[in-house]
Amino acid sequence: MNKFSWYEAKSIEDALQQVNTTVSEEVYQSSNEAAIFKSGGIDVFDLVKEGLIKPQKIINIRNIPGLDKISYDRKEGLSIGANVTLAEMASNEVIKENYLALHQAVSHAATPQLRNMSTLGGNIAQRNRCWYFRSVDHDCFRKAGDRCFARHSENGENENHAILDNGSCVSVHASSISTALMAFNATVVFFNDKGKKKEVLMDDFFVSASQDISMETILQAKEMITNITLPAPEKNTKSFYMKQGARESYDWSIGDVAIVMKVSGNTCKSASIVLGSAAPVPYRSNEAQQAMENTTINSDNALKAAKAAMSKARPLSKNGYKVPLFVSIIKQAILEIS
Ligand SMILES: Cc1cc2nc3c(=O)[nH]c(=O)nc-3n(C[C@H](O)[C@H](O)[C@H](O)COP(=O)(O)OP(=O)(O)OC[C@H]3O[C@@H](n4cnc5c(N)ncnc54)[C@H](O)[C@@H]3O)c2cc1C
Repeated sequence: MNKFSWYEAKSIEDALQQVNTTVSEEVYQSSNEAAIFKSGGIDVFDLVKEGLIKPQKIINIRNIPGLDKISYDRKEGLSIGANVTLAEMASNEVIKENYLALHQAVSHAATPQLRNMSTLGGNIAQRNRCWYFRSVDHDCFRKAGDRCFARHSENGENENHAILDNGSCVSVHASSISTALMAFNATVVFFNDKGKKKEVLMDDFFVSASQDISMETILQAKEMITNITLPAPEKNTKSFYMKQGARESYDWSIGDVAIVMKVSGNTCKSASIVLGSAAPVPYRSNEAQQAMENTTINSDNALKAAKAAMSKARPLSKNGYKVPLFVSIIKQAILEIS
């Protein structure tokens, strides 16, 4: 583990100033590891201990006042500060009442101890957990290497990996909270070091491996998330989230789904259906959404939509089980809405 200095940021401006002034532009251009924001610290310290990043400076943004608030307005919707913990989200009554799928996603993530530490900003910006990416001994595509060990090596271990959009990197994104946030059409709000505010839909926040292998989100090293907003729930909207892990607790998802549906009686008027741990980033299934639109919510139609979601699946050598797994959880989640 390398030596680093520690800076306790007092405000958003202070944190951005630090990231801006402490390290020269040349260092940033050659490496984005010069200074790094730390919130809950779970992923940052894992990456440091694993030797994947060697920051010169860690900027602790965890204690910046004002980033730990949840606010709700019936017309404007929900705003969740970047430093709100998953535990605080899980126990928030407004989220439970108005954004059920998000409540379910945070309640099923990791463990109670981890949820007490993990923040929303850190959760959506965490790196993937592919064991080859996390190993300093494997130079995979994401680390400027020339191969994907999960896909190509003879004994590639790919049982947790992507079945959709897996043409280059086959890792899956580690944030199951993002599955629900994307289904609710959430927006990520962040600032760059010049103080410029950006607001980007979750759909555009993540970068697919086929677009740019070097990034998982559009966030740059000198940009800081302040909050995430969700539109006010429309009338007659229902939602549901399901996660399957290898274990009931202390584990990432091997497949999860979030559904937000506008209903009229037992008819689906429109649906937002997002899959987690299916692709290198959270995956909106247009096929499942279209299959459900203006149909009755029943077992046959739910199965059709679930199968449509898997129509482009290309499993690897050891993760074919994910196709029936997704069919099962998508169908169940749709039926839970009725
Ligand atoms: C055993 C285990 C199981 C887990 N299971 C799940 C699961 O089922 N579902 C799930 O979703 N997650 C899961 N996690 C992830 C965990 O819940 C944390 O959310 C995650 O590790 C990072 O949160 P953090 O606040 O500690 O972020 P940090 O480690 O502080 O930061 C993570 C990254 O985000 C950046 N960052 C942090 N805050 C900001 C900000 N405001 N602006 C810009 N960049 C920022 C940091 O620079 C860093 O790159 C699991 C983790 C472990 C160890």
